[in-house]
Amino acid sequence: MSLDQMNELYREVVLDHAQHPHHKGHLGQESLHFTMENPTCGDVIDVATVVKDGQIDQLAFTGAGCTISQASASMMTVALLHRPVAEARRLIVSFSKMITGATINDQDQRALGDASLLASVAEFPARIKCATLAWHALDELLQREGSQEHE
Ligand code: ZN
Repeated sequence: MSLDQMNELYREVVLDHAQHPHHKGHLGQESLHFTMENPTCGDVIDVATVVKDGQIDQLAFTGAGCTISQASASMMTVALLHRPVAEARRLIVSFSKMITGATINDQDQRALGDASLLASVAEFPARIKCATLAWHALDELLQREGSQEHE
């Protein structure tokens, strides 16, 4: 996607997240982490989380990749940190729908915050995997966390 194709707000917010990512770094030993790769673009993102009392207590990511993958991971940490696991998983589903061009409700759109700006990625199918990489990695972790609670 060429940056000229994006509107000014989108461009500024995406570049700001990519250049100054939120919650980029490692968590302590108690964290669970999961790495996902997007071979078509070369993005590699490792998401780490600590779930406490059914809520995302800590959330961070490391890795490298294109602007969209880095910005999206940063936006995800801002949108989902401190949310209850069930709510976070619902928002991951909403984000995935939005990024493939579906309309999502206003409440979810607000909850996604800056990440809702990535809706325009739907126009560029080749970049959808870049945008969803971190979200899918976190979903995998939350799924595991949920199954552990029932053991
Ligand atoms: Zn990418």
